[in-house]
Amino acid sequence: MQKGTIGVTTENIFPVIKKFLYSDHEIFLRELVSNAVDASQKLRTLQSFGEFKGETGPLDVRVTIDKEAGTITISDNGVGMTEEDVDRYINQIAFSGAEEFLQKYKDTANGIIGHFGLGFYSAFMVAKKVVINTLSYKEGATAVRWECDGSPEYEMGEGTRSSRGTDIILYIDDESKKFLDQSVIDGLLKKYCRFMPVPVISGKEQEWKDGKMVDTERDKIINATEPQWTKKPSELTDKDYIDFYHELYPGQDDPLFWIHLNVDYPFTLTGILYFPKIKNNLDVSRNRIQLYSNQVYVTDSVEGVVPEFMMLMQGVIDSPDIPLNVSRSYLQADTAVKKISGYITKKVADRLDGIFKSDRAEFEKKWDDIKIFIEYGMLTDAKFCDAALKFTLLKDTQGKYYTLEEYKTLVEASQTDKDGKIVYLYTTDSTAQYSYIKAAEDKGYSVLVMDGQLESHFVGLLEQKLQNTTFVRVDSDVVENLIKKNDGPSVELTSVDRNIMTSLFHSQLPVVDKSEFLISFENMGASAMPVTVTQNEYMRRMKDMAAMQPGMDFYSQLPDSYTLVVNTANPIVDRLRSQASEKLGAEIQTLMDSLEAENKELDELQKQGDAADKSKEAELRKKVSDIRAEQEKIVSTYAAEIPEIKQLLDLALLSNGLLKGAELTAFIERSVDLLNQK
Ligand code: ADP
Ligand code: MG
Repeated sequence: MQKGTIGVTTENIFPVIKKFLYSDHEIFLRELVSNAVDASQKLRTLQSFGEFKGETGPLDVRVTIDKEAGTITISDNGVGMTEEDVDRYINQIAFSGAEEFLQKYKDTANGIIGHFGLGFYSAFMVAKKVVINTLSYKEGATAVRWECDGSPEYEMGEGTRSSRGTDIILYIDDESKKFLDQSVIDGLLKKYCRFMPVPVISGKEQEWKDGKMVDTERDKIINATEPQWTKKPSELTDKDYIDFYHELYPGQDDPLFWIHLNVDYPFTLTGILYFPKIKNNLDVSRNRIQLYSNQVYVTDSVEGVVPEFMMLMQGVIDSPDIPLNVSRSYLQADTAVKKISGYITKKVADRLDGIFKSDRAEFEKKWDDIKIFIEYGMLTDAKFCDAALKFTLLKDTQGKYYTLEEYKTLVEASQTDKDGKIVYLYTTDSTAQYSYIKAAEDKGYSVLVMDGQLESHFVGLLEQKLQNTTFVRVDSDVVENLIKKNDGPSVELTSVDRNIMTSLFHSQLPVVDKSEFLISFENMGASAMPVTVTQNEYMRRMKDMAAMQPGMDFYSQLPDSYTLVVNTANPIVDRLRSQASEKLGAEIQTLMDSLEAENKELDELQKQGDAADKSKEAELRKKVSDIRAEQEKIVSTYAAEIPEIKQLLDLALLSNGLLKGAELTAFIERSVDLLNQK
């Protein structure tokens, strides 16, 4: 019987392992099963090198629970270990046997999972005692038994195992009893071992008998040893890819596209990425890309490994070159990871370009669903953006799709403004903005539909990328001003009329929470609507972006600011103007004259600077504001008598969905009254 101290420099490494090495205790199973898988794979490799001349027989890994004894046993019939091996690979922590094996058989020993030499000791995260029973494949080897109770002392001696392979027996500690449950173990094996390359067996298949599920004689195999991503794309049909997708993510719609990744230089990476049909954010956060290392599940927290926009994609990435057991900040700085991320980006762009070129109709059909990936990619990844500009599509309100190039050709002639800028009109909601779209289309303009979640950002990006192009939402101004062809005719209102009209409409504006209204006048032609609501493009975009981004609170706090554009050429407006002008014109003119006189005096006084008579100045200021108030009062008293004014404003607000609650009820009652008057 050999006794010794496990060769670590720290006094006692186990508390460290227990607490810090892996935050998730459950990964002990992944580590031990993958060691068993490694042992099986090694035997195959040795056989192919002629170093093992016997029969391997069917190789598999078994995980057995003994509830009574309180043990979990992981057994394999792989290479096994001699006493020397145990001394070397188990007693000397952090001396990874896998690493050494890989060095020796570099070119053929694919699929060896271990790299770090600490996996075995993760057993002590859940076990108070671990026993190894092992018999090496080597001719004349004797069985070895090793035992350790979690202190740095171990015992090693002759073992009892009579066939090649290894049993790892874990005496589960009191805090970890939950692992002694077949369904818990099944769950973990499904999570971590689902695609391991050697059959993993645990428990029995069950069947329905006499009103309950009972064990059969058949072993339950947990894993698929040859998952689709390990195969050649030429061996797989569309159905294979789709079926595999559903296997990974049950209950989802069919994916839109997929990409089979396959590189061996300068790093090794395989996998299948899917563009899912995104229905809601919950699906995105729940069904994520899974990262594997030689078919061993590692994580689905792939931030930093895949480009950010691919967080929306699904599928599997398998690479032994991603350093898996280290911290995320390390991952992000790792050059291999950067290369991998760059490679994946390029593959995704190539694939999309390929579909676009070979089957544009199909591409267009799926555009609305995939545009979120593409736009997100373009916004977050400059390289992807450049590649994607070739196949980015714009959709107009008729449902037609154009490339950026095609669209430019389409609208260049009719939508270039007086400064030579091409104006792209767009709508974010073709129902709510219907009247504006119609007005623009009646004028022969094309309107794009930009109603995706990211499009307020995306519009900004396109403006940077396309030269001399500006995007204007279709309701951001009256149609005449959306694309300014020349410095249009100024509005022919006398200053008295303008004064009256401003107060007339201003006094009747409703109070809408968190909204602010300005009045302006335009000659929009006799047939155009009397009053239109527009919302400034710049402010609206700022607010939209603020809503999606933290740190832009300033903008999100601002009220929505709308302009009510009064069409002076509309006959109703014109009638209201002339009536008011006739009734109030003279009186307002007088007030305006005295206002001018007072203002002039105030100006003179202010020119004297510090020498000015302060009390006189205050007196003048008061007079000015009194005259203004007087004016307001006269006009608003008059306006209150004319229900049409409020009616016109309300109609404009109504068509923008801004008329609500009490204001809406008042509008309806007023409408009925107006009809009654006839
Ligand atoms: P790694 O797998 O990273 O090498 P581990 O701590 O998981 O590190 O395992 C250490 C070594 O112990 C392995 O490399 C292997 O040589 C040996 N070993 C562990 N489990 C087995 C097993 N079931 N059969 C044969 N050898 C094993
Ligand atoms: Mg290992």
